[in-house]
Amino acid sequence: MRLILLGPPGAGKGTQANLLAKKIKIPQLSTGDMLRAAVKAGTDVGKKAEAIIKKGGLVPDEIVIGIIEDRLGEGDCRQGFILDGFPRTLRQADALDEVLAAKKMALDGVIEIKVDDDILIGRIEKRAREALAASESVRSDDNAESLRVRLLAYYRETAPLIGYYYAHHKLRSVNGMVPVEEVSRLIERELQLMKKSSKLA
Ligand code: AMP
Repeated sequence: MRLILLGPPGAGKGTQANLLAKKIKIPQLSTGDMLRAAVKAGTDVGKKAEAIIKKGGLVPDEIVIGIIEDRLGEGDCRQGFILDGFPRTLRQADALDEVLAAKKMALDGVIEIKVDDDILIGRIEKRAREALAASESVRSDDNAESLRVRLLAYYRETAPLIGYYYAHHKLRSVNGMVPVEEVSRLIERELQLMKKSSKLA
């Protein structure tokens, strides 16, 4: 199973990718987690990415494409993977197609998690308040200004991917505004439908 989870910041991609990865025993590839690890480790990539992440902008395509290309080459991705937070631009989507084609692999599908803006803003503000109360922010980008920049980047750069994958007959959308377990069930149902339609094809 080779999947992408797509959706705005705060939609629950990370949570759902994590649950699904455990359930179907394939790796979750989160470029956000990889970049945060690089920042923590103080690598060259980390140094380039740190200020951008903090502001809520997008790290340059060639950096994230390089990271994902390396990661997809690792043995545990042979059985499949769940991409969470990548691709985020059309250029990244093109690069992913090329990397997979070179490995004679194809994407099985893209699951879009749909959440309205007012709910996203509420979720992220809550996360920021909780981080402040515990006086330990896990994420340097958990604040109102960076959320605004992240949402803008999503609509400007990432939302066009919905049309791209729809045109490639890969897209399936689920409602992300119901409880976590319900979103998981909706995703699993889409995966079943995806399997059925690929058998019919
Ligand atoms: P996330 O954990 O997916 O919300 O990612 C956190 C931050 O890492 C984003 O706001 C971006 O600054 C950066 N980032 C993660 N994935 C990508 C990507 N595919 N392209 C560009 N920047 C990314």
